[in-house]
Amino acid sequence: MSRIYNFSAGPAMLPEEVLKTAAAEMLDYHGSGMSVMEMSHRSKVYQGIIDEAEADLRKLIGIPENYKVLFLQGGATLQFALIPMNFMVNGKADYINTGVWTKKAIKDAKLFGEVNVIASGEANNFKSIPDVKSLKFDKDADYVYMCDNNTIFGSKFKEYPDTGDIPLVCDMSSCFLSEPIDVKKFGLIYAGAQKNVGPAGVTILIIRDDLLARTPRNPLPAYLDYRLHAENGSMYNTPPTYGIYICGLVFKWLLANGGLEARKKANEEKAAILYDYLDHSKLFTPYVDKKDRSLMNVTFRTPSDELDAEFLEGAKKYKFTNLKGHRLTGGLRASIYNAMPIDGVKALVAYMKEFEEAHK
Ligand SMILES: *Cc1c(COP(=O)(O)O)cnc(C)c1O
Repeated sequence: MSRIYNFSAGPAMLPEEVLKTAAAEMLDYHGSGMSVMEMSHRSKVYQGIIDEAEADLRKLIGIPENYKVLFLQGGATLQFALIPMNFMVNGKADYINTGVWTKKAIKDAKLFGEVNVIASGEANNFKSIPDVKSLKFDKDADYVYMCDNNTIFGSKFKEYPDTGDIPLVCDMSSCFLSEPIDVKKFGLIYAGAQKNVGPAGVTILIIRDDLLARTPRNPLPAYLDYRLHAENGSMYNTPPTYGIYICGLVFKWLLANGGLEARKKANEEKAAILYDYLDHSKLFTPYVDKKDRSLMNVTFRTPSDELDAEFLEGAKKYKFTNLKGHRLTGGLRASIYNAMPIDGVKALVAYMKEFEEAHK
């Protein structure tokens, strides 16, 4: 067996210990005589798995009592529609546009009400994050929407807007559990699991009770109504059972390894190795303004598409995969989530130096 350094933006690397535990428990979970995949979601043993996953997540982040935790399906993409469907009571919301994922969220929200784009990084092709201090909110807005870490462009908010009484809704898909989270600043936090937390198929939501209690403008189909999921402990229908189990193992791994403070420190250390090199390189250029850089998705490029392609070809001999930038942006991208070991980042930088040396 040989594991390789996988720099994928998602689905992405998971901690090796988690995969080993899952392998050991594959055929017989804790004496149940079956795999977690084969269990009824209504069984006592599965109820224990989902309850423990939620309790561990609450402990890890410090989620206040007045927030519900949901494990749903449909990815982050389904939330682009469910958020306006559930929360656009006055029929309008403020959106901060910081890249591809917010553009998709804006497009969906427009189907349900008035969308005010109160700031946008589009004019400079999303190389930076708008200044949150100068934002002006519509006092009648149902919520303010943002995406914390922009997976494709590689930018990240370093502070959050103060929206006063207006709930702040945040897509944290690609930075969830990479650092401590001050949950009370938000009305809703959500994240697709496959970037930093677990396998594809699980979407985690943390919703404040008062936001949940809002009556949608119209009755909603069952699966699309957040309240129904909350009232049924994410068991209104069959939840993504195996995915939730793996997320639970990741939460335990995080708790056993110093929690989110330790993760932040490790992620800062890893990202600094890459950015320090990029800032001094004469061949590679980082994409995002220094103050707004993501710790999770590091975007950069060489002077030409041809050289980018050569770099990717050469990466194969070191068994580095998924370093190609997103199809919409081109260039190169190294996603270095929680599970990427520091040795993977060091090895990548060693290859970049070698490549630069060879192309002087
Ligand atoms: C990947 C990603 C999404 C889309 O996630 P799906 O699970 O594919 O729907 C949305 N937002 C962000 C920030 C992402 O990184």
